[in-house]
This record gives sequence, C-alpha cells and structure tokens, in this order.
Amino acid sequence: RQCCGYLQEFLDFMDMEDPRPAGSIPVEKRDDGQFEIAFEHVSFRYPGTSEWVLRDVSFRLDTLGKLAVVGPNGAGKTTFIKLLCRLYDPTEGRITLNGVDIRKYDEDEYRDLFGVVFQDFKLFALPVWENLAAGYARDDARMWRALAQAGADGLVRSWPEGLETRLYKDLGDGVMVSGGEAQKLALARALYKDAPLVILDEPTAALDPISEAEVYKRFDRMVTGRTAVYISHRMSSCRFCDKIAVFDGGRIVEQGSHEELLAAGGLYARLWEAQASYYA
Ligand code: ADP
Repeated sequence: RQCCGYLQEFLDFMDMEDPRPAGSIPVEKRDDGQFEIAFEHVSFRYPGTSEWVLRDVSFRLDTLGKLAVVGPNGAGKTTFIKLLCRLYDPTEGRITLNGVDIRKYDEDEYRDLFGVVFQDFKLFALPVWENLAAGYARDDARMWRALAQAGADGLVRSWPEGLETRLYKDLGDGVMVSGGEAQKLALARALYKDAPLVILDEPTAALDPISEAEVYKRFDRMVTGRTAVYISHRMSSCRFCDKIAVFDGGRIVEQGSHEELLAAGGLYARLWEAQASYYA
C-alpha cells in the first residue's frame, strides 16, 4: 500500500499531456555526420517565469567540429543545450535542422541525433549492459568499444561478472562506483548510442587530474566523425575545441577560436586569465 502511493505520481506523470506541437517529418539518416543546425533569434523564458534566460541568440553549429560553450554561472549555457536537445521549445525565434524548424520533426528521431551527458546524469541499479544500452539493442562489441573510449573498460573487466555486474546495492548484490567512475560509465552510455552529435556537460568535473588529462587526450578519438559540444567549466578544456561560444547574461557575446578570443581581450580572455592565475 505504501508503494502504491509513490506509483500514483508516476501514473499522473505518464498521463500528462505534452502541450507542444508534435512533428512528423522523419530525420534524414546520414553516415557522413553532415547536417546543419541553426538558432535563429532564439529567446527563452522558463515556463511560468518572467525572466529572459536567453535573449536573441543566433548561432550556426558547424558539423564535425568541436564547440566549447563557456561563460559565467547562470549565463544560459545549460539552457542553450536543453533547447538544442528539444527538452524545451524557444519562446521566440526558432531552431532549424537542415533549414526546417525542429518542431516539425518526429521528436524521437530528432532526439536520436544526440548522445548527451548532463551533469546530473543518473545510472540505475541494473546490470552494466542495461545502463549502457539504455533501451537500445545490446551489442557487446560496441559496448566494450564505448567503455574503452570512455576509459572504463578496465573497471568493468575487473568486476567478476563483467557487463552483467549490477550497479549499486539497492537490490543487495551490486558494486558501488565512485563519482568519477559513474561519470565514465555515463560517458560510455552516450558514446554507445553512436549519435552523430555528442554533448558533454563538463564530463571531467568529477574526475581526478590524471583521469581528466586522459579524457582530453582521448577526446579527439572519441568524437571522430561526430560533432561535439562541450559545456566547459574548466577553461583548459576549451583548448581542445575548434570553436568557442562565450555566453553572458543569456547572449552569445563572443565566438571564435581560443587564440582569436585571447587576442580579442574580452570576456573569454578575462575568464582564461582568472583561471590560469590559480595554476601560476
Ligand atoms: P549556466 O549553465 O550558464 O550556469 P543555466 O542555463 O543553468 O546557466 O541558467 C540560466 C538561468 O536560468 C539562471 O538564472 C537559472 O536560475 C535559470 N534557470 C535554470 N533552470 C531553470 C528552471 N528549470 N526554471 C526556471 N529558471 C531556471
């Protein structure tokens, strides 16, 4: 009886209507990872609030490149990514894929374009393989490849039951993982999806400096043939990216390469110097 009380919330949630328009256009499947995503004068307020979180953002995402998104806390970086993934729709303006408003596409197909690791990702008290597959078909060879790319293959191999090992103790018998290990597994899950676009919300935040350096080293290989967006809280990770978009107060205030932005001497240069001074 006690559990049924919790179940009601789940049932209410599943019964909620999605007020957003449902699109039906299929998303073109391409092997070369080429597609074009653009923000056109996008402004956004969270539902039920009056404050603009993004203001007139226009931006073209270069495919097969690595984009870093940086800026002070609360600048709108995560919100920008949420809109890109269609977790919310713009209040004004539009986001297009190959020139067509993303609201017109089939939602599931559109979401299949993205492999995302948010900072508040969750793993489940299920076997490793189910955590990695996350509802998609199981393919062990691809799973080990994703684990190796994320630097978690050694960890999973060290467990007696390998991919069958259950995580966490909720059901009594699982293994516990540290924050850094969980982050590597979440990264492997995003890579296993083999999506053309990989979005990482600072995937090294919970890693020690050595693991962090390893991830940076592997980063190029990890995203070959894909487009990568990297929300960066440590400025050092910007160096690995081709282009950087600097957010401030809900706007993109600067964009360019690391060298260009340093030379411009604006907000990026100030953020870079502020962080570099810790290590001087
Ligand atoms: P960043 O990732 O750059 O730190 P966010 O996109 O998370 O910034 O947040 C931008 C602004 O949007 C902040 O002022 C934050 O308080 C607000 N915000 C974020 N999420 C929500 C939400 N779910 N509802 C209302 N306001 C939110």
